Amino acid sequence: MVVELISVGTEILLGNIVNTNAAYLSEKCAALGLSCYHQSVVGDNEGRLEKTLRLAVSRSDIVILSGGLGPTKDDLTKEVTAKVFGKKLTEDTHTKERIAGYFSKMQSKKITENNWKQAMVPEGAKVVDNHNGTAPGLIIEENGKTAILLPGPPNEIKPMFERDIMPYLRSLEPEGIYSKMVKICSIGESKAETMVLDLMENQSNPTIAPYAKTGEVHFRVTARALDEAEADKLMEPMLKELSERFGDKIYTTSEEVTLEEAIVDMLKEKNLTLTTAESCTAGLLAGRIMNVAGASQIYNEGYITYSNEAKEKLVGVSHGTLESHGAVSHETAAEMAEGAARAAGADASVSVTGIAGPDGGTKEKPVGLVYVGCYVKGNVRTEEFRFLGNRAKNREYAVVRALTLLREELLKA
Ligand code: ATP
Ligand code: MG
Repeated sequence: MVVELISVGTEILLGNIVNTNAAYLSEKCAALGLSCYHQSVVGDNEGRLEKTLRLAVSRSDIVILSGGLGPTKDDLTKEVTAKVFGKKLTEDTHTKERIAGYFSKMQSKKITENNWKQAMVPEGAKVVDNHNGTAPGLIIEENGKTAILLPGPPNEIKPMFERDIMPYLRSLEPEGIYSKMVKICSIGESKAETMVLDLMENQSNPTIAPYAKTGEVHFRVTARALDEAEADKLMEPMLKELSERFGDKIYTTSEEVTLEEAIVDMLKEKNLTLTTAESCTAGLLAGRIMNVAGASQIYNEGYITYSNEAKEKLVGVSHGTLESHGAVSHETAAEMAEGAARAAGADASVSVTGIAGPDGGTKEKPVGLVYVGCYVKGNVRTEEFRFLGNRAKNREYAVVRALTLLREELLKA
């Protein structure tokens, strides 16, 4: 079924409030298995709202309108929808009683005549009680088309949607959407995509879609099914196919698991400790690892060795290496990794040294040149990278490459 969203409110058009309702509703509708092809924002204007609603009804099965259900003159959503669906407004005694009850509970607020406007509903409409305000939600059905009217305030629309609208939508569209995120590292985005082009071309249920992520490739596999067990069954052959193609480059199929989490788990499993020595990333890499709860089990101490002196003093890079090869080199990265592991008494270690920019680049050693070193139980490996981002991006890339290299070496260990 096709759903369409209309957010009503001049405040949204002017940018005074952010349209969080649309983001919320889209996400929920997608999970409910409804296809959403159009969303619009209309100001509090009768003529334009009517035009927008008529267009929406002509091309979608369900139209969800949010906002404009309040008691004031500029709140027109209900009146316009009743007109488009050819319904008269009649007083709903149940809602009238609820409004009276709401005001008697909120003793600080006095009821005004225009509040009774909220008790008027299009004839035949299903009334959805608002447990956090006065405007009820409304469901209007006519000729196979449905309009769902919801209040604008997020603290009213969300509980109402979850409690009453979701079950209603599920009764219209029993299939839901379930997905797995296949997260891959150690391979470039374009290469990864060419490896699954055939799967992407012939997709129906499940579908597969690539997601861009700094230094990683993610594929979302999505199935439409009646429940999770059926979805898992549908996704299984696709997940197996991806697993055959990408092997251990896949570090998780779970939405929540991050690369650093997967690495911390590997270290725990192998009973290895880790340390880091960072120059241009200066703590970013250690910070990523420390994002993982329980990382203290595998990490005791690390080093920020920004200057040459710090590289000698803290992780024992030799003066000669720095003199002859420079701080940004394979040799320094290797000595940083080895020296850090020695200094911290750790089984594994990763180092980063490079030129993040914007200054400090030369012809031989341009901005974006980064060396990553990895030491795991006596083995040292270094890699050279040439990133083309700005300072922030180059540091971010360096961190992901360092994590990726570490994971590759841990797989071998
Ligand atoms: P009220 O009874 O408060 O008038 P209403 O249903 O008429 O409610 P609006 O008048 O359109 O809704 O909006 C009321 C408030 O709800 C806005 O000031 C804003 O804070 C919030 N709101 C409305 N629409 C949205 C939206 N699309 N996204 C986020 N917040 C919204
Ligand atoms: Mg209002």
